[in-house]
Amino acid sequence: MIESMAGLSRTHLCGEISEGLLGSEVTIMAWVQHRRDHGGLVFLDMRDKTGLVQTVFNPQEDPDTHRKSHDVRPEWVLALRGTVRRRPPDMVNPKIPTGAVEVLIKELRVLNDSKTPPFVVEDDAQVSESVRLKYRYLDLRRPRQGGLLALRDKVARLTRGYYSSNGFLDVETPFLTKSTPEGARDFLVPSRLNPSRFYALPQSPQLFKQLLMVAGFDRYCQIVRCFRDEDLRSDRQPEFTQVDMEMSFAEEDDVMRMAEGHMALLFREVLGVGLRLPLARLPYDQAMLGYGCDRPDLRYGLRIEEISDLLADSEAKVFRDPVRAGGCVRAIVAKGAQSQLSRKQLDDLVALAQSLGARGLAWVRVTPGGWQGPVAKFLSQGEVESITRRLSAAEGDIVFFGADRPELVSHVLGQIRATLAGLLGLVRDGDYSLSWVTDFPMFEWSQEEKRYVASHHPFTAPMEEDLELLETDPGNVRARAYDLVLNGSEIGGGSIRTHRRDIQERVFLALGIGPGEAQAKFGFFLEALSYGAPPHGGIALGLDRIVALLAGRESIRDVIAFPKTQKGVCPLTEAPGPAGPGQLAELGIRSLPANKGG
Ligand code: ASP
Repeated sequence: MIESMAGLSRTHLCGEISEGLLGSEVTIMAWVQHRRDHGGLVFLDMRDKTGLVQTVFNPQEDPDTHRKSHDVRPEWVLALRGTVRRRPPDMVNPKIPTGAVEVLIKELRVLNDSKTPPFVVEDDAQVSESVRLKYRYLDLRRPRQGGLLALRDKVARLTRGYYSSNGFLDVETPFLTKSTPEGARDFLVPSRLNPSRFYALPQSPQLFKQLLMVAGFDRYCQIVRCFRDEDLRSDRQPEFTQVDMEMSFAEEDDVMRMAEGHMALLFREVLGVGLRLPLARLPYDQAMLGYGCDRPDLRYGLRIEEISDLLADSEAKVFRDPVRAGGCVRAIVAKGAQSQLSRKQLDDLVALAQSLGARGLAWVRVTPGGWQGPVAKFLSQGEVESITRRLSAAEGDIVFFGADRPELVSHVLGQIRATLAGLLGLVRDGDYSLSWVTDFPMFEWSQEEKRYVASHHPFTAPMEEDLELLETDPGNVRARAYDLVLNGSEIGGGSIRTHRRDIQERVFLALGIGPGEAQAKFGFFLEALSYGAPPHGGIALGLDRIVALLAGRESIRDVIAFPKTQKGVCPLTEAPGPAGPGQLAELGIRSLPANKGG
């Protein structure tokens, strides 16, 4: 029978029951974790968000209550009134904070019962993600899962406090808006009141935060949801959260220093780790050359070195030909790897390189008798010596070579580098490497669209000294953009913006956006730039990823209360769902034929 809680009020949370309360009467309201019947005595472990506490029912002390305790099952919700007492020494549980005490119950009320849950609500329950997400409210009852959202709350509070104390104003920006391009597809929302017209959900508040600078707010920060209709790679969500900020009269250093202070605060308060500031900065070209990607993991070395100049006239065709064709040869030294990598692992690395588009992956062992390996015999003594010197290679090392177009070599050796780090155990738990990548190219050529697209977004300012290249050589214009990289993941990106209308129009032109299209899509924004827009810049940090990394979690789904699957589906609500013909008619949308394939 389900009872009312009327007349009882909760005095303590489960985790608060401690030795300081010995002899006191307490009332808790919580879920049944576990019920044990010790032939006479019944024990209920009760759980709420603060943890577990053991309660005891004794037939001698209170026969009615004891009888009631027999009926309860896991996940029932109870109100329990009783007295705190010390556990007998053999029942002390040092693993939980309330392990020295228990509550001897005088009154039990069943506030609600529960179906048998689809999985045991315990941290270590083995359960698939689809079941967890379908019953997310039970999943979140598990202390560790719930704790991740508490951590997220802490990060959000620290963040708001930090920016607020630095003069940033929290301003909400619209969700029903016009397209704000960040390189993804928009989610569109039909407008009932304006037939055939659509709102776009913001890919970011980019244009609004810039408008707030034009409005004279000086500094803005918002923890805000962004929407991008992308094909979901393993760790993307169609809606995700950014710490979005913008500053007026700011240059790169100002924004970067502000963001560094934020990160240092989070690391200190969450992990107890002191970050050394200022963080290292690595120009894009150097990142691509030295690490093969624009978000290098700097927790380990394995730098990629350029050796093309040493091999232009080599007898080894595999190296000479690509260099002569305008490509490059680059190498990675894996220190002491001979004793750590098996032949099978070396073959797997070659297969990995091939799967990434390389013709192969040459490697040599550095031994006292010289280099050994498939390509060694084609290299002259002089080449071996000069490469050994350039790479500081030594006995016991293995050297890997990539020879092809520079982009392909970067891509392949970047992946080989990351794989080697794993195989050689170079990444230790609790290591953090936070750094900036700067000097990005402003544009990338899109083979698909046959035009330049913005590497960051179209509102990023080109570097002053590259302005004249906008019309003549857009591929070589560098952007005043910067990315923040943590352990090989991009956790934020931003830029100094174009605050002059004439330059913004030139950037649009370089992107193939003519005056008519610019006016139709961004006329309101160009207009705003004509009314005294101050120089400004900002950044957005990915809150989900930051919390996941701080929590040591692989997946951002773990730190989002109600995430979606890789197909963009919410297993709990089954969104997205169908719309009825009436609803569609109201929106002026013709019904689609039912999907027969299911
Ligand atoms: N709006 C950008 C983004 O979402 C960040 C920025 O430039 O501030 O990546």
